[in-house]
Amino acid sequence: MMSSYNQLKNNLVTLKLNVMDEQLDETIDFASRNQLNIVETLLRLTNYQIDYREQNSIKSMVKVANFPHFKELKDFDFTFQPGINTQQIQDFETLRFIERNENIVFLGPSGVGKTHLSTSIGITAAKHRCTTYFIKCHDLINQLKKAKIENRLDQRLKHFSRYKLLIIDEVGYLPIEKEDAKLMFQLIDQRYEKRSTIITTNIAFENWDNIFMDPITANAILDRVLHHAHVVQINGNSYRIRNHIRTDRDCTF
Ligand code: ADP
Ligand code: MG
Repeated sequence: MMSSYNQLKNNLVTLKLNVMDEQLDETIDFASRNQLNIVETLLRLTNYQIDYREQNSIKSMVKVANFPHFKELKDFDFTFQPGINTQQIQDFETLRFIERNENIVFLGPSGVGKTHLSTSIGITAAKHRCTTYFIKCHDLINQLKKAKIENRLDQRLKHFSRYKLLIIDEVGYLPIEKEDAKLMFQLIDQRYEKRSTIITTNIAFENWDNIFMDPITANAILDRVLHHAHVVQINGNSYRIRNHIRTDRDCTF
């Protein structure tokens, strides 16, 4: 005859409540030490399983977001980039901009931290269960192009429109043909005032005509992106080549 303790352990495993099984002894000890009643004890035990499930779901939200790396805001050295308003970036991390369907544009040359900052904000969003997706502009356009050829553009546009936060990285690193610009416009238009988008670019807005090879579409895209947007311009040095930059202090002659 199995003891009721062992029966309980078996039940927990059969019900796939493995975390409760693992925490059972601790919970029983804690309950008797602190004279918890049955409700308090069951609450404590079930909370272990709930917390575990929560952690797993957070992990998978971050995983499906397709981030290039997992660098967070704490890994960003703000002293290296004194032009950045730290408070503003911290405010982005509260995800208030997502509540308000606002956009963020990181504008600046290569290596100043645009991808790092957008990824950090994206990780925070995903951890808070906002559906988030990171994609390079060029890959996004290729996906939309492919969908168009395969007669499922609407479906694909809808898919990308659903993300609470979409991060489009590297707008302007590669030129975008006229027809492709229209695909990009359709996506931006579908997200307009409904969803937040973070864009990183190395091209000043007045030169977006050159990226999109079609001034009218370029303007229509910019109009919608910038209507409710926080523009963060970063003018500093590249972090990638920070050790190769000669400062005045290095000059001994
Ligand atoms: P960008 O997208 O603007 O070209 P990245 O965000 O890719 O630049 O940054 C280049 C590399 O330098 C990345 O590995 C990034 O994590 C790192 N980096 C950039 N700026 C900083 C910073 N201020 N503090 C710490 N790491 C930084
Ligand atoms: Mg980048």
